[in-house]
Amino acid sequence: MNSDSFELDRLNHLIACYPQLRSQTLAEVEYKGNLYPLIRAELGSSEPSVPTVVFVGGVHGVERIGCQVQLAFMASLLARLGWDSSLQLLLSKVRLSFVPVVNPVGLLRGTRCNGQGVDLMRNAPITSTDKVPLLVGGHRLSAKLPWYRGKSAMERETKALIDYVSSLLTTSSSVIVLDAHSGFGLSDHLWFPFACRQTAMEQVGRVYRLKQLFEASFPHHNHYRFSPQSLIYQTHGDIWDYVTSKQHTTPFIALTLEMGSWSWVKKNPRQLFNFAGLFNPQKPHRYHRTLRKHTVFMQFLVDLAASRTLENLTDKQLSKLDRLANQLWYE
Ligand SMILES: [Zn+2]
Repeated sequence: MNSDSFELDRLNHLIACYPQLRSQTLAEVEYKGNLYPLIRAELGSSEPSVPTVVFVGGVHGVERIGCQVQLAFMASLLARLGWDSSLQLLLSKVRLSFVPVVNPVGLLRGTRCNGQGVDLMRNAPITSTDKVPLLVGGHRLSAKLPWYRGKSAMERETKALIDYVSSLLTTSSSVIVLDAHSGFGLSDHLWFPFACRQTAMEQVGRVYRLKQLFEASFPHHNHYRFSPQSLIYQTHGDIWDYVTSKQHTTPFIALTLEMGSWSWVKKNPRQLFNFAGLFNPQKPHRYHRTLRKHTVFMQFLVDLAASRTLENLTDKQLSKLDRLANQLWYE
């Protein structure tokens, strides 16, 4: 299967090759008479008391690289599981879940929105109380304009993803989500809730600790800018805002990886004339470099979850970390 093949076919290929993947269709979406599944595939422990890391991609169909980064990491883990005894041991302590093709119709058509013209990352039932930027913050004007929130109901894809992650929160000791996107700026960002308001989420100290541990452990891989999304721009309808605002007991961190695609465009300005080129590396060496670039951080998330370091923070430690997080991001 080459790098241009449909990502849903690549996911199905992995599921067919590796019977240890526990796959399930969370929803089906219809487009032009065909049905496209939204699939999750789990790996590792199935115990209800273990931490879970969820790798999400393809929420925005035009941002194919996010989906491909998740599929590449998934394929690498599966290949290693055949021989790597340390990985086998690690996966006895943690559950991994992959939902790399959230918006199959968008990926098929090369559009940001789904088949109904709805931007799934503006479609969750949560509304900013502040003023959001016109259009880009989400609107209900018309499906013909980008960043359309939909009329009022959740789209099948949005609901299926929210229901699935919510169910994991009741069957895991903690949940970390990494949702991969591309297209914003020159650098790689890691955003966390809220997008809809400029106040800190509960236990934001856990995100601060995650950042601290990553930067101390991998100082030469520290090309990420961590921040609450609202520091960059505010939006309505963010899926991770919604799940975070509903969640109060199980430790939960949702990170949105925004890969800085403008650097690919800067180095290859011809990409400006190709819509998909604004969101995805076009040259093979840059494509492969991007697939490699995030592996260290993804593996770190798995190791961190399995270690339960963030789960085991005491109230005292957490309140100190909350204070540090507030100083860094909100004051
Ligand atoms: Zn996106």
